[in-house]
Amino acid sequence: MQEIVPGLWDVGELASAVPVHVYLWRWAEGVTIVDTGTPGSADKILAAVGALRLQPSDVKRIIITHADVDHMGSLKALKRATGAQVICHTVEKEFLENPGRRKPAKTPLGLLLRPIFALAMQFPQYRVEPLSPDRTHVDGDKLPEGFTIIHTPGHTPGHISLLHPEKRFLIAGDAIHNRGGTLGAPPPLFTPDVENSHLSIWKLAKKYGNNFDVAVFGHGPPIREKAGEAFNSFTAQLFETET
Ligand SMILES: [Zn+2]
Repeated sequence: MQEIVPGLWDVGELASAVPVHVYLWRWAEGVTIVDTGTPGSADKILAAVGALRLQPSDVKRIIITHADVDHMGSLKALKRATGAQVICHTVEKEFLENPGRRKPAKTPLGLLLRPIFALAMQFPQYRVEPLSPDRTHVDGDKLPEGFTIIHTPGHTPGHISLLHPEKRFLIAGDAIHNRGGTLGAPPPLFTPDVENSHLSIWKLAKKYGNNFDVAVFGHGPPIREKAGEAFNSFTAQLFETET
């Protein structure tokens, strides 16, 4: 586990079926968990909470950036262990309640993979238990942790990124990834609306790029300085290749 900025902890790339980062944010009322890893990750995340000398009951809220197996996989177990409030975007609620509705995109390859994906969802390491969020939010909402919700649809309809304007960091979720230390758009196979996913990256860069220096991702290492500038350079590349 490492502290990215004071109070923001990266639980680490959870060694699981899909390597993914989970974050802890310490604030006045306790700790908020952002995303929950794949199924079976709850113990590791709770151990990270323990390493901060906090109890499961100190976890006040769990924010889900989007309802993918690697982000909400251990949500139910963590909810059970902590009693925390669960938060997501209003549009994503449907997918938290019905994880089976998340499917590969309607591309030829995606359609071919849909039955295999549905089958894989039956295995314990991919089986997501449904859960109703306690609270839902929309773009621009301000949360008590200091986050502003940024709706970044495309990868999923209700995907959100979290901006902390005061501490100048962004939790991007899967709106953009940094695999291998290179920024990239979400994978088309699991992005039903690729065009919107690119517009979401544009939004993060152009509308909010001046508001954060540090960015952390669902996939890939953090960017610790000038992240807004890096997002803008990537956006220029992304839209150049599209025209
Ligand atoms: Zn992911």
